[in-house]
Amino acid sequence: MNGENAGWAERSDKVLIGTYARYPAAMVKGEGCTLTDAEGREYLDCLAGIAVCSLGHCHPAVTDAICRQAKELVHVSNFYYTRPQTELAELLTENSFADQIFMANSGAEANEAAIKLARICAGPDRYGIISLTGSFHGRTLATIAATGQPRFREGFEPMPEGFSHAPFGNLNVLEAIITNQTCAILCEPLQGEGGVRPLDVEYLKGVADLCKKHDLLLIFDEIQTGIGRTGTFFAYEQLGIVPDIMTIAKALGNGMPIGAMLTRKEIAASLVPGTHGSTFGGNPVAAAAAVATLKVILEDGFLDSVKEKGKYLQAGLEDLAARFPAHASGARGMGLIRGLVLTEKGIEHGADMVNKLFAKGILINFAGNAVLRFLPPLIITREEIDRLLTVLGEVLTEYEA
Ligand SMILES: *Cc1c(COP(=O)(O)O)cnc(C)c1O
Repeated sequence: MNGENAGWAERSDKVLIGTYARYPAAMVKGEGCTLTDAEGREYLDCLAGIAVCSLGHCHPAVTDAICRQAKELVHVSNFYYTRPQTELAELLTENSFADQIFMANSGAEANEAAIKLARICAGPDRYGIISLTGSFHGRTLATIAATGQPRFREGFEPMPEGFSHAPFGNLNVLEAIITNQTCAILCEPLQGEGGVRPLDVEYLKGVADLCKKHDLLLIFDEIQTGIGRTGTFFAYEQLGIVPDIMTIAKALGNGMPIGAMLTRKEIAASLVPGTHGSTFGGNPVAAAAAVATLKVILEDGFLDSVKEKGKYLQAGLEDLAARFPAHASGARGMGLIRGLVLTEKGIEHGADMVNKLFAKGILINFAGNAVLRFLPPLIITREEIDRLLTVLGEVLTEYEA
């Protein structure tokens, strides 16, 4: 079926708005860490739909939960209770600092809920949210205002008021930006889109202390780092810092669109009927998929295996950096969110490296225009990691000549 990919690309480009620079493949099937395109080519998926399909594609437990729920009840709105939503909220609160959750359909919506909660909780005139440079919080107007990368805002001004950014890693400047209007600090424990940049633990502790000192809410955006990606259920567990509000999405439904905002009861109490809502949020099918996903991720030994494979991938990437110092300077990350940090010369070839890997049947991406990012399904095997490292080594060798 040669030409199928190009055929779909041509039809799609006519009718889809061009917000994405897509790779020339129409994906038709997924199983485990393998994707298959319309021409029958297979790919080792080390991106997992951007940290979404953590249990791999079409995990039987999740597919089964989706099918069963789809036969019983697909949607009723939030005017009524549904079983999957309650079960999901129980699982999330039993396994986190939070007492209560609000369900949305995406990461940006979860962050919108967090921004609204922080503001209503702080009361009139305290609306300022400080986030960090290099951060990414979504694509809605409020979340691009919060995102600490100007390129996401260009052409869309004016931005909603009340957002400011502090330079990554500098507590003094952060404190200087806090005013009487500030109500919250929003940050990712590890910046994903920004280039797999972990925040220094001491810095984060300093941020948490500033929040206490100035009576601010600490919001952790764990949309990319949550649900086992870093080797613990949530990244904050490894930092010894507990946020006041946390947002999650990506891996929550293993591919079904669902996001959530988690917080403590006292804070949540500011949101009363009529203050916030979502027609689809916590939809029964998406929530049932999330319940099935969480049950697997919380099984004994699952998160330990993520830590262990994360170390293995890190060691392999460090080895590549040592072998190709002209192009890569090192590796970083937590669990199975890892980045190969490129040198200036490497960055020039970064997009090309991703294309070459694609041509060799391996899917990854180039994050923050500086780092090759690896977000494989958490079920990836050591053999699959070896294949990724081998092919990446072949690609890096091509630049040596
Ligand atoms: C992906 C992401 C978002 C946005 O999530 P969407 O579901 O695309 O709206 C927000 N914050 C972080 C840290 C993310 O990685």
